[in-house]
Amino acid sequence: MAQRIQGTEDLYGGYMRAWQHMQDVARDLFGAYGFDMIETPAIEQVDTFVHGIGESTDVVRKEMFRVFSGALMERILGAGSESGLKAKQRMAMRPEGTAGVVRAAVQENFVPQGAAPAKLWYAEPMFRGERPQKGRLRQFHQVGIEVLGASDPAVDAECIIMLMEFYKRLGFDPKGLKLMINSMGDAQCRPAYRNMVRDFILDHKDEMCEDCLERAEINPLRSFDCKNDHCREVMKDAPLVTDNLCDDCAAHYAQVKKYLDAAGIEYVEDPTLVRGLDYYTRTVFEVEAADAGVGAIGGGGRYDGLMELEGGKPTPGIGFAVGFERIALALASQGKTLETPAPSCVYVACASPDQRHEVFDATLRLRQAGVRTEADYQGRSLKSQFKQADKLHAAVCVVIGADEVAAHQVTLRDMQTHEQVQVPADELVQKVTAHLA
Ligand code: AMP
Repeated sequence: MAQRIQGTEDLYGGYMRAWQHMQDVARDLFGAYGFDMIETPAIEQVDTFVHGIGESTDVVRKEMFRVFSGALMERILGAGSESGLKAKQRMAMRPEGTAGVVRAAVQENFVPQGAAPAKLWYAEPMFRGERPQKGRLRQFHQVGIEVLGASDPAVDAECIIMLMEFYKRLGFDPKGLKLMINSMGDAQCRPAYRNMVRDFILDHKDEMCEDCLERAEINPLRSFDCKNDHCREVMKDAPLVTDNLCDDCAAHYAQVKKYLDAAGIEYVEDPTLVRGLDYYTRTVFEVEAADAGVGAIGGGGRYDGLMELEGGKPTPGIGFAVGFERIALALASQGKTLETPAPSCVYVACASPDQRHEVFDATLRLRQAGVRTEADYQGRSLKSQFKQADKLHAAVCVVIGADEVAAHQVTLRDMQTHEQVQVPADELVQKVTAHLA
Protein backbone atom coordinates (compact mmCIF):
# COMPACT_ATOMS: atom_id res chain seq x y z
CA MET A 1 0.00 0.00 0.00
CA ALA A 2 1.26 3.47 -0.82
CA GLN A 3 2.24 5.38 2.32
CA ARG A 4 2.11 8.99 3.38
CA ILE A 5 5.54 10.48 4.14
CA GLN A 6 6.30 10.57 7.87
CA GLY A 7 5.68 13.99 9.38
CA THR A 8 2.94 14.87 6.88
CA GLU A 9 -0.81 14.66 7.34
CA ASP A 10 -3.91 14.26 5.18
CA LEU A 11 -6.39 17.04 5.84
CA TYR A 12 -10.00 15.92 5.36
CA GLY A 13 -13.33 15.73 7.18
CA GLY A 14 -13.42 17.46 10.56
CA TYR A 15 -9.69 18.24 10.49
CA MET A 16 -10.08 20.03 7.15
CA ARG A 17 -13.10 21.94 8.50
CA ALA A 18 -10.94 22.98 11.47
CA TRP A 19 -8.24 24.36 9.11
CA GLN A 20 -10.91 26.16 7.08
CA HIS A 21 -12.46 27.57 10.26
CA MET A 22 -9.07 28.93 11.31
CA GLN A 23 -8.80 30.67 7.93
CA ASP A 24 -12.35 32.06 8.21
CA VAL A 25 -11.58 33.53 11.65
CA ALA A 26 -8.36 35.00 10.25
CA ARG A 27 -10.12 36.51 7.21
CA ASP A 28 -12.73 38.22 9.41
CA LEU A 29 -10.36 39.50 12.06
CA PHE A 30 -7.44 40.51 9.83
CA GLY A 31 -9.90 42.06 7.37
CA ALA A 32 -11.08 44.43 10.10
CA TYR A 33 -7.46 45.53 10.50
CA GLY A 34 -7.17 46.17 6.74
CA PHE A 35 -5.25 43.06 5.64
CA ASP A 36 -5.58 41.42 2.20
CA MET A 37 -4.70 37.82 1.43
CA ILE A 38 -1.58 36.80 -0.49
CA GLU A 39 -0.26 33.48 -1.73
CA THR A 40 3.35 33.19 -2.83
CA PRO A 41 4.80 30.10 -4.55
CA ALA A 42 5.62 27.07 -2.39
CA ILE A 43 9.03 26.95 -4.11
CA GLU A 44 11.45 29.87 -4.21
CA GLN A 45 15.10 30.34 -4.98
CA VAL A 46 17.26 29.15 -2.12
CA ASP A 47 18.77 32.64 -2.00
CA THR A 48 15.40 34.15 -1.03
CA PHE A 49 15.52 32.15 2.20
CA VAL A 50 19.27 32.44 2.72
CA HIS A 51 19.17 36.26 2.46
CA GLY A 52 16.27 36.57 4.83
CA ILE A 53 16.34 33.72 7.29
CA GLY A 54 20.14 33.65 7.47
CA GLU A 55 22.81 31.21 6.31
CA SER A 56 23.64 30.21 9.88
CA THR A 57 20.15 29.25 11.06
CA ASP A 58 19.06 25.63 11.56
CA VAL A 59 16.15 26.27 9.21
CA VAL A 60 18.45 27.09 6.30
CA ARG A 61 21.39 24.84 7.16
CA LYS A 62 19.57 21.65 8.00
CA GLU A 63 15.82 21.85 7.57
CA MET A 64 15.13 23.29 4.13
CA PHE A 65 13.81 20.79 1.57
CA ARG A 66 15.71 21.38 -1.66
CA VAL A 67 13.94 20.89 -5.00
CA PHE A 68 15.55 19.44 -8.14
CA SER A 69 13.92 18.22 -11.31
CA GLY A 70 14.97 14.70 -12.31
CA ALA A 71 17.05 16.10 -15.18
CA LEU A 72 18.81 18.60 -12.93
CA MET A 73 19.50 15.90 -10.36
CA GLU A 74 21.16 13.75 -13.03
CA ARG A 75 23.36 16.68 -14.05
CA ILE A 76 24.38 17.34 -10.45
CA LEU A 77 25.15 13.68 -9.81
CA GLY A 78 27.19 13.61 -13.04
CA ALA A 79 29.12 16.73 -12.09
CA GLY A 80 29.51 15.58 -8.48
CA SER A 81 28.39 18.99 -7.14
CA GLU A 82 25.73 21.64 -7.57
CA SER A 83 28.28 24.43 -7.76
CA GLY A 84 27.64 24.88 -11.51
CA LEU A 85 23.95 25.69 -10.98
CA LYS A 86 22.58 29.16 -11.59
CA ALA A 87 20.79 30.90 -8.70
CA LYS A 88 17.43 30.27 -10.40
CA GLN A 89 18.14 26.53 -10.53
CA ARG A 90 18.75 26.35 -6.80
CA MET A 91 15.26 25.95 -5.39
CA ALA A 92 13.71 25.06 -2.04
CA MET A 93 10.26 24.49 -0.54
CA ARG A 94 9.32 27.44 1.68
CA PRO A 95 10.09 26.73 5.36
CA GLU A 96 8.24 29.88 6.46
CA GLY A 97 6.14 32.61 4.91
CA THR A 98 7.90 35.92 5.51
CA ALA A 99 10.84 35.62 3.11
CA GLY A 100 8.53 34.86 0.15
CA VAL A 101 6.13 37.72 0.93
CA VAL A 102 9.02 40.16 1.27
CA ARG A 103 10.55 38.86 -1.99
CA ALA A 104 7.17 39.47 -3.69
CA ALA A 105 6.91 42.94 -2.13
CA VAL A 106 10.31 43.86 -3.57
CA GLN A 107 9.63 42.33 -6.98
CA GLU A 108 6.10 43.74 -7.33
CA ASN A 109 6.83 47.03 -5.54
CA PHE A 110 4.07 46.70 -2.93
CA VAL A 111 5.37 49.71 -0.99
CA PRO A 112 6.26 52.52 -3.43
CA GLN A 113 7.69 55.76 -2.04
CA GLY A 114 5.08 57.59 0.04
CA ALA A 115 2.55 54.72 -0.10
CA ALA A 116 0.54 53.45 2.86
CA PRO A 117 1.91 50.28 4.47
CA ALA A 118 1.16 46.98 2.71
CA LYS A 119 -0.78 44.66 5.01
CA LEU A 120 -0.92 41.03 3.91
CA TRP A 121 -2.01 37.73 5.38
CA TYR A 122 -1.53 34.15 4.22
CA ALA A 123 -2.66 30.61 5.05
CA GLU A 124 -0.21 28.13 3.56
CA PRO A 125 1.62 24.86 4.06
CA MET A 126 5.28 25.17 5.14
CA PHE A 127 7.97 22.52 4.74
CA ARG A 128 10.82 21.74 7.11
CA GLY A 129 13.04 18.66 7.14
CA GLU A 130 12.67 18.08 10.87
CA ARG A 131 12.56 14.84 12.81
CA PRO A 132 8.79 14.32 13.12
CA GLN A 133 7.23 14.28 16.60
CA LYS A 134 4.07 15.56 18.29
CA GLY A 135 3.48 19.11 17.09
CA ARG A 136 6.57 18.98 14.85
CA LEU A 137 5.81 18.10 11.24
CA ARG A 138 7.64 18.22 7.94
CA GLN A 139 4.63 19.75 6.24
CA PHE A 140 2.56 21.96 8.51
CA HIS A 141 0.23 24.91 8.02
CA GLN A 142 0.58 28.49 9.12
CA VAL A 143 -1.67 31.51 9.15
CA GLY A 144 0.51 34.60 9.16
CA ILE A 145 0.57 38.34 8.54
CA GLU A 146 3.12 40.88 7.36
CA VAL A 147 2.99 44.68 7.59
CA LEU A 148 5.51 46.37 5.29
CA GLY A 149 6.36 50.06 5.37
CA ALA A 150 5.64 51.12 8.96
CA SER A 151 8.15 51.55 11.78
CA ASP A 152 5.70 53.07 14.27
CA PRO A 153 5.68 51.09 17.56
CA ALA A 154 1.86 51.34 17.43
CA VAL A 155 2.03 48.81 14.58
CA ASP A 156 4.02 46.37 16.74
CA ALA A 157 1.38 46.72 19.45
CA GLU A 158 -1.51 46.36 16.98
CA CYS A 159 0.00 43.15 15.56
CA ILE A 160 0.31 41.67 19.05
CA ILE A 161 -3.19 42.79 20.02
CA MET A 162 -4.58 41.26 16.83
CA LEU A 163 -2.66 38.02 17.48
CA MET A 164 -4.06 37.70 21.01
CA GLU A 165 -7.58 38.42 19.71
CA PHE A 166 -7.03 35.69 17.08
CA TYR A 167 -6.36 33.10 19.81
CA LYS A 168 -9.44 34.26 21.69
CA ARG A 169 -11.65 33.87 18.61
CA LEU A 170 -10.16 30.42 17.97
CA GLY A 171 -11.48 29.39 21.38
CA PHE A 172 -8.54 29.87 23.76
CA ASP A 173 -9.09 31.18 27.25
CA PRO A 174 -6.73 34.20 27.28
CA LYS A 175 -5.82 33.35 30.88
CA GLY A 176 -4.24 30.09 29.67
CA LEU A 177 -1.94 31.89 27.22
CA LYS A 178 1.51 33.27 27.94
CA LEU A 179 2.71 36.11 25.72
CA MET A 180 6.45 36.75 25.89
CA ILE A 181 8.02 39.84 24.39
CA ASN A 182 11.54 41.17 23.96
CA SER A 183 13.53 43.61 21.87
CA MET A 184 16.45 42.25 19.88
CA GLY A 185 17.97 45.63 19.05
CA ASP A 186 18.87 46.71 15.54
CA ALA A 187 21.83 47.20 13.23
CA GLN A 188 23.12 49.97 15.53
CA CYS A 189 23.24 48.03 18.77
CA ARG A 190 22.97 44.33 18.00
CA PRO A 191 26.46 43.69 16.53
CA ALA A 192 28.16 44.89 19.73
CA TYR A 193 25.73 42.84 21.85
CA ARG A 194 26.30 39.78 19.68
CA ASN A 195 30.04 40.09 20.28
CA MET A 196 29.44 40.33 24.04
CA VAL A 197 27.50 37.07 23.95
CA ARG A 198 30.16 35.43 21.78
CA ASP A 199 32.85 36.47 24.28
CA PHE A 200 30.71 35.22 27.16
CA ILE A 201 30.36 31.79 25.50
CA LEU A 202 34.09 31.61 24.77
CA ASP A 203 34.84 32.57 28.40
CA HIS A 204 32.66 29.60 29.44
CA LYS A 205 33.71 27.23 26.70
CA ASP A 206 34.49 24.36 29.09
CA GLU A 207 30.88 24.37 30.25
CA MET A 208 29.12 24.61 26.88
CA CYS A 209 28.17 21.96 24.32
CA GLU A 210 29.80 21.53 20.90
CA ASP A 211 26.83 23.14 19.14
CA CYS A 212 27.09 26.27 21.30
CA LEU A 213 30.82 26.57 20.62
CA GLU A 214 30.04 26.44 16.91
CA ARG A 215 27.21 28.96 17.45
CA ALA A 216 29.56 31.32 19.30
CA GLU A 217 31.02 32.43 15.98
CA ILE A 218 28.06 32.15 13.64
CA ASN A 219 24.94 32.77 15.72
CA PRO A 220 25.77 33.18 19.44
CA LEU A 221 22.26 34.35 20.47
CA ARG A 222 20.91 30.87 19.63
CA SER A 223 22.68 29.54 22.74
CA PHE A 224 19.89 31.09 24.81
CA ASP A 225 17.59 28.32 23.62
CA CYS A 226 20.09 25.48 23.32
CA LYS A 227 18.41 22.09 23.84
CA ASN A 228 21.07 21.27 26.45
CA ASP A 229 19.82 22.23 29.95
CA HIS A 230 23.32 22.93 31.24
CA CYS A 231 24.05 25.42 28.44
CA ARG A 232 20.81 27.25 29.23
CA GLU A 233 21.82 27.36 32.91
CA VAL A 234 25.18 28.92 32.00
CA MET A 235 23.47 31.37 29.67
CA LYS A 236 21.41 32.71 32.59
CA ASP A 237 24.47 34.82 33.50
CA ALA A 238 25.09 36.02 29.94
CA PRO A 239 24.64 39.73 29.13
CA LEU A 240 21.01 40.57 28.29
CA VAL A 241 20.01 42.35 25.12
CA THR A 242 17.60 44.64 26.95
CA ASP A 243 20.52 46.03 29.00
CA ASN A 244 22.38 46.77 25.77
CA LEU A 245 19.82 48.46 23.52
CA CYS A 246 20.71 51.76 21.83
CA ASP A 247 18.52 54.75 22.78
CA ASP A 248 16.29 54.42 19.70
CA CYS A 249 15.60 50.73 20.29
CA ALA A 250 15.01 51.27 24.01
CA ALA A 251 12.52 54.08 23.25
CA HIS A 252 10.75 51.93 20.63
CA TYR A 253 10.45 49.01 23.05
CA ALA A 254 9.15 51.25 25.85
CA GLN A 255 6.50 52.67 23.52
CA VAL A 256 5.34 49.20 22.41
CA LYS A 257 4.87 48.21 26.06
CA LYS A 258 2.97 51.42 26.74
CA TYR A 259 0.49 50.64 23.94
CA LEU A 260 0.10 47.05 25.15
CA ASP A 261 -0.52 48.26 28.70
CA ALA A 262 -3.10 50.74 27.43
CA ALA A 263 -4.89 47.91 25.58
CA GLY A 264 -4.87 45.74 28.71
CA ILE A 265 -2.71 43.03 27.09
CA GLU A 266 -0.82 40.92 29.62
CA TYR A 267 2.74 39.96 28.72
CA VAL A 268 5.94 38.69 30.24
CA GLU A 269 9.22 40.33 29.28
CA ASP A 270 11.74 37.64 28.41
CA PRO A 271 15.14 39.15 27.64
CA THR A 272 16.40 35.74 26.44
CA LEU A 273 13.70 35.41 23.76
CA VAL A 274 15.70 35.60 20.53
CA ARG A 275 13.62 33.62 17.94
CA GLY A 276 15.29 31.28 15.50
CA LEU A 277 15.58 33.40 12.38
CA ASP A 278 18.29 35.98 11.71
CA TYR A 279 16.09 38.67 10.21
CA TYR A 280 14.39 39.90 13.39
CA THR A 281 15.12 43.40 14.75
CA ARG A 282 13.62 45.18 17.74
CA THR A 283 10.27 43.74 18.89
CA VAL A 284 9.96 39.93 19.00
CA PHE A 285 7.19 37.91 20.62
CA GLU A 286 6.07 34.34 21.16
CA VAL A 287 2.94 32.75 22.62
CA GLU A 288 2.64 29.50 24.58
CA ALA A 289 -0.51 27.73 25.76
CA ALA A 290 -0.29 26.56 29.38
CA ASP A 291 0.09 22.77 29.79
CA ALA A 292 -0.37 22.07 26.07
CA GLY A 293 3.16 20.67 25.83
CA VAL A 294 3.52 21.57 22.16
CA GLY A 295 5.97 24.47 22.38
CA ALA A 296 5.19 27.87 20.92
CA ILE A 297 1.79 28.17 19.23
CA GLY A 298 2.80 31.32 17.40
CA GLY A 299 5.31 34.07 17.25
CA GLY A 300 6.77 36.88 15.23
CA GLY A 301 8.59 40.12 15.27
CA ARG A 302 9.94 43.13 13.48
CA TYR A 303 12.38 42.75 10.56
CA ASP A 304 13.40 46.26 9.52
CA GLY A 305 16.40 45.06 7.48
CA LEU A 306 14.73 42.28 5.49
CA MET A 307 13.45 44.24 2.48
CA GLU A 308 17.01 45.42 1.84
CA LEU A 309 18.39 41.90 2.26
CA GLU A 310 15.96 40.79 -0.45
CA GLY A 311 17.21 43.55 -2.74
CA GLY A 312 14.64 46.28 -2.06
CA LYS A 313 14.76 49.80 -0.66
CA PRO A 314 15.09 50.07 3.14
CA THR A 315 11.52 49.39 4.33
CA PRO A 316 10.52 48.44 7.86
CA GLY A 317 8.38 45.35 8.40
CA ILE A 318 6.77 43.22 11.08
CA GLY A 319 4.76 40.00 11.10
CA PHE A 320 3.74 36.85 12.90
CA ALA A 321 2.84 33.25 12.10
CA VAL A 322 0.59 30.80 13.90
CA GLY A 323 0.82 27.04 13.36
CA PHE A 324 -2.51 25.30 12.68
CA GLU A 325 -1.52 21.81 13.89
CA ARG A 326 -0.21 23.09 17.21
CA ILE A 327 -3.31 25.23 17.71
CA ALA A 328 -5.47 22.13 17.17
CA LEU A 329 -3.36 20.14 19.67
CA ALA A 330 -3.32 22.94 22.24
CA LEU A 331 -7.09 23.42 22.02
CA ALA A 332 -7.64 19.66 22.29
CA SER A 333 -5.53 19.62 25.47
CA GLN A 334 -8.06 22.08 26.92
CA GLY A 335 -10.97 19.91 25.80
CA LYS A 336 -11.85 22.26 22.94
CA THR A 337 -11.92 21.92 19.18
CA LEU A 338 -11.51 24.07 16.11
CA GLU A 339 -13.84 21.77 14.23
CA THR A 340 -17.14 23.16 13.03
CA PRO A 341 -20.15 20.78 12.76
CA ALA A 342 -20.43 18.79 9.54
CA PRO A 343 -22.72 20.68 7.14
CA SER A 344 -26.33 19.50 6.89
CA CYS A 345 -27.93 18.71 3.55
CA VAL A 346 -31.17 17.84 1.80
CA TYR A 347 -31.58 14.22 0.66
CA VAL A 348 -33.78 13.40 -2.29
CA ALA A 349 -35.14 9.88 -1.79
CA CYS A 350 -36.45 7.79 -4.64
CA ALA A 351 -39.35 5.45 -3.79
CA SER A 352 -38.83 3.19 -6.82
CA PRO A 353 -36.62 3.17 -9.94
CA ASP A 354 -39.55 4.59 -11.97
CA GLN A 355 -39.07 8.03 -10.33
CA ARG A 356 -35.34 8.13 -11.05
CA HIS A 357 -35.79 10.91 -13.60
CA GLU A 358 -37.88 13.13 -11.28
CA VAL A 359 -35.31 12.62 -8.49
CA PHE A 360 -32.49 13.55 -10.85
CA ASP A 361 -34.34 16.72 -11.85
CA ALA A 362 -35.23 17.74 -8.24
CA THR A 363 -31.61 17.20 -7.13
CA LEU A 364 -30.34 19.45 -9.91
CA ARG A 365 -32.85 22.22 -9.11
CA LEU A 366 -31.91 22.24 -5.42
CA ARG A 367 -28.20 22.30 -6.16
CA GLN A 368 -28.64 25.14 -8.63
CA ALA A 369 -30.34 27.09 -5.84
CA GLY A 370 -27.21 26.54 -3.71
CA VAL A 371 -28.71 23.87 -1.43
CA ARG A 372 -26.26 21.07 -0.46
CA THR A 373 -28.15 18.08 -1.87
CA GLU A 374 -27.56 14.32 -1.87
CA ALA A 375 -29.37 11.42 -3.52
CA ASP A 376 -29.04 7.67 -3.83
CA TYR A 377 -26.90 6.21 -6.61
CA GLN A 378 -26.86 2.61 -5.43
CA GLY A 379 -30.49 1.50 -5.78
CA ARG A 380 -31.07 1.36 -2.01
CA SER A 381 -34.50 0.65 -0.46
CA LEU A 382 -36.41 3.68 0.83
CA LYS A 383 -35.65 2.65 4.43
CA SER A 384 -31.96 2.45 3.78
CA GLN A 385 -32.06 5.78 1.92
CA PHE A 386 -33.45 7.38 5.11
CA LYS A 387 -30.62 5.80 7.10
CA GLN A 388 -28.14 7.13 4.59
CA ALA A 389 -29.77 10.57 4.84
CA ASP A 390 -29.24 10.55 8.62
CA LYS A 391 -25.58 9.63 8.18
CA LEU A 392 -25.18 12.55 5.77
CA HIS A 393 -26.73 14.93 8.36
CA ALA A 394 -29.77 15.60 6.18
CA ALA A 395 -32.17 18.10 7.75
CA VAL A 396 -34.89 17.32 5.22
CA CYS A 397 -35.69 14.43 2.91
CA VAL A 398 -37.57 15.05 -0.32
CA VAL A 399 -39.45 11.84 -1.09
CA ILE A 400 -40.61 11.18 -4.62
CA GLY A 401 -42.79 8.16 -5.38
CA ALA A 402 -45.44 7.19 -7.92
CA ASP A 403 -48.26 8.97 -6.00
CA GLU A 404 -46.27 12.17 -5.75
CA VAL A 405 -45.44 12.13 -9.48
CA ALA A 406 -49.09 11.51 -10.38
CA ALA A 407 -50.21 14.43 -8.16
CA HIS A 408 -47.35 16.77 -9.32
CA GLN A 409 -46.20 16.89 -5.71
CA VAL A 410 -43.25 15.89 -3.53
CA THR A 411 -43.18 14.87 0.12
CA LEU A 412 -40.95 16.81 2.53
CA ARG A 413 -39.91 14.77 5.55
CA ASP A 414 -38.33 16.60 8.49
CA MET A 415 -35.55 14.27 9.59
CA GLN A 416 -35.73 15.34 13.22
CA THR A 417 -39.49 15.23 13.85
CA HIS A 418 -40.23 12.77 11.03
CA GLU A 419 -43.24 14.99 10.17
CA GLN A 420 -44.22 14.88 6.49
CA VAL A 421 -45.97 17.42 4.30
CA GLN A 422 -46.86 17.38 0.63
CA VAL A 423 -45.92 20.40 -1.48
CA PRO A 424 -46.38 21.20 -5.19
CA ALA A 425 -43.42 19.84 -7.19
CA ASP A 426 -42.80 23.19 -8.91
CA GLU A 427 -42.48 24.92 -5.51
CA LEU A 428 -39.85 22.43 -4.31
CA VAL A 429 -36.92 24.85 -4.05
CA GLN A 430 -38.97 27.58 -2.31
CA LYS A 431 -40.50 25.16 0.19
CA VAL A 432 -37.23 23.44 0.98
CA THR A 433 -35.31 26.70 1.51
CA ALA A 434 -38.14 28.05 3.66
CA HIS A 435 -38.06 24.85 5.74
CA LEU A 436 -34.27 25.05 6.16
CA ALA A 437 -34.47 28.70 7.22
P1 AMP B 1 8.40 29.76 13.39
O1 AMP B 1 8.29 30.14 11.94
O2 AMP B 1 9.43 28.71 13.65
O3 AMP B 1 8.46 30.92 14.32
O4 AMP B 1 7.03 29.03 13.72
C1 AMP B 1 5.82 29.72 13.86
C2 AMP B 1 4.78 28.74 14.34
O5 AMP B 1 4.62 27.69 13.37
C3 AMP B 1 5.15 28.01 15.62
O6 AMP B 1 4.78 28.75 16.72
C4 AMP B 1 4.35 26.74 15.49
O7 AMP B 1 3.03 26.97 15.86
C5 AMP B 1 4.42 26.45 14.02
N1 AMP B 1 5.51 25.50 13.64
C6 AMP B 1 6.82 25.76 13.44
N2 AMP B 1 7.48 24.66 13.07
C7 AMP B 1 6.58 23.66 13.04
C8 AMP B 1 6.63 22.26 12.71
N3 AMP B 1 7.75 21.67 12.31
N4 AMP B 1 5.50 21.54 12.79
C9 AMP B 1 4.33 22.12 13.17
N5 AMP B 1 4.21 23.43 13.47
C10 AMP B 1 5.31 24.20 13.41
